[in-house]
Amino acid sequence: MHACVIGAGVIGVTTAWQLARQGWRVTLVDAAAEPAGGASHANGGQLSYSYVAPLAEPGVLPHLPVWLFNPASPLRFRPRLDPLQWRWCLQFLRACNGRTASATSAQLLSLSYLSRQVLHDIQRESPVDFAHARNGKLIVYRTPALLEKARAQVALQAQMGSDQQILDADQLIEREPALAPVRSRLAGAVYTPSEESGDCARFTQGLFQQMAAMDHVTLRMQTPIGQLERSGGRIRRLLTTTGESIEADQYVVAAGMGSRPLLAALGTHAPLYPLKGYSLSLPCTPDQAPAISVTDYERKTVYANLGGTLRIAAMVGIGVADHGIEADRIALVKQQASELLPRADIKQARAWAGYRPATPHGRPLIGRSRAAGNLWLNIGHGALGFTLACGSSHLLGRLMAGATPDIDPVPFQPNC
Ligand SMILES: Cc1cc2nc3c(=O)[nH]c(=O)nc-3n(C[C@H](O)[C@H](O)[C@H](O)COP(=O)(O)OP(=O)(O)OC[C@H]3O[C@@H](n4cnc5c(N)ncnc54)[C@H](O)[C@@H]3O)c2cc1C
Repeated sequence: MHACVIGAGVIGVTTAWQLARQGWRVTLVDAAAEPAGGASHANGGQLSYSYVAPLAEPGVLPHLPVWLFNPASPLRFRPRLDPLQWRWCLQFLRACNGRTASATSAQLLSLSYLSRQVLHDIQRESPVDFAHARNGKLIVYRTPALLEKARAQVALQAQMGSDQQILDADQLIEREPALAPVRSRLAGAVYTPSEESGDCARFTQGLFQQMAAMDHVTLRMQTPIGQLERSGGRIRRLLTTTGESIEADQYVVAAGMGSRPLLAALGTHAPLYPLKGYSLSLPCTPDQAPAISVTDYERKTVYANLGGTLRIAAMVGIGVADHGIEADRIALVKQQASELLPRADIKQARAWAGYRPATPHGRPLIGRSRAAGNLWLNIGHGALGFTLACGSSHLLGRLMAGATPDIDPVPFQPNC
């Protein structure tokens, strides 16, 4: 059987890799010259297996007015005359209720734990060098009242078997000395030892290189797909924008935000909207940056030490459509990073902007498309694509093989 996968971001590459390992003949195509050139390029590096709660939850609603009108807020919303935006926002608001959010969190947890297991299997059997660190995560709080609230949540989760510790400011500095200069401003942290981090682009490129050595895999970069040609309820071939055609038995769309127009041309609406975010990357020495990955809870900023490169990621922009970097947003990220890590040399930081391909409810769409019998989707991973990639691709591989999946696939079944 021959499968063609569209998209060489972390989702398409892990999908192609899983299929190749299962014995499929695989063709992987991407418009760009190199893999991981899209959202997977310089993301936050968090393998955040225990923190998968969707953005759409009831706690978001009271914050919305502040977030929308405060220029220093982590969220920026630009209303547009775009029915796709309004449709997505309405579906997002509908998902902001306790029942949906708890169900989604539980479903995402099952996928993230599967992802962790699959990633560890990959690292055991055919390791990739991607600055993989398995030394936990610190969620850092400035406000004592918020830390107290977190303490209650940690106690609740402990009853469900979760291993987390509350650290006061002294214990926090003992665990992560890079935060010592700002000790007086921190109330404490929640430490979760099981969390991990790594460089998503290097992971993607590593698996891509492994596939380059496989006889049954063809890698076709600089191959933009313009159309999926359908007849008799099946995809017959892919047409590139330069008029070439590519034929396979089964087709997978894993093209991040590029999936939406491909599916729209088949008359199906993929509920994806781009949530713009920023990252900074800068060289760091051990005393300049935390060894453990850190989330600044109040500022919604994440920090990961990717083997001597400090990666800082932040901000959500809705309707901020241009591909440029907004000077005021990146200046804010730099200022906040300098405040938390005054020893880091922020002047050396390279800025990057990317678009999280997000569904309104926060669940990725993994499974057979309604548009054609031999068309499969692995899309919509939003802010968690690196975390969920290995599990999503493993799940899709099982579904395509007609095998029993390791987790319940129903919550992720595409409706498009
Ligand atoms: C600022 C920021 C921080 C983030 N931090 C984290 C984090 O810490 N942890 C985490 O788990 N996730 C994080 N994410 C989310 C994660 O990066 C994304 O969910 C993930 O990269 C999506 O992967 P993808 O393969 O679906 O899309 P992409 O990486 O965008 O790949 C899609 C590919 O499809 C190709 N393509 C598109 N259309 C076509 C076409 N017509 N023909 C051929 N090829 C096509 C593109 O060229 C691209 O290579 C972050 C995202 C951002 C923006």
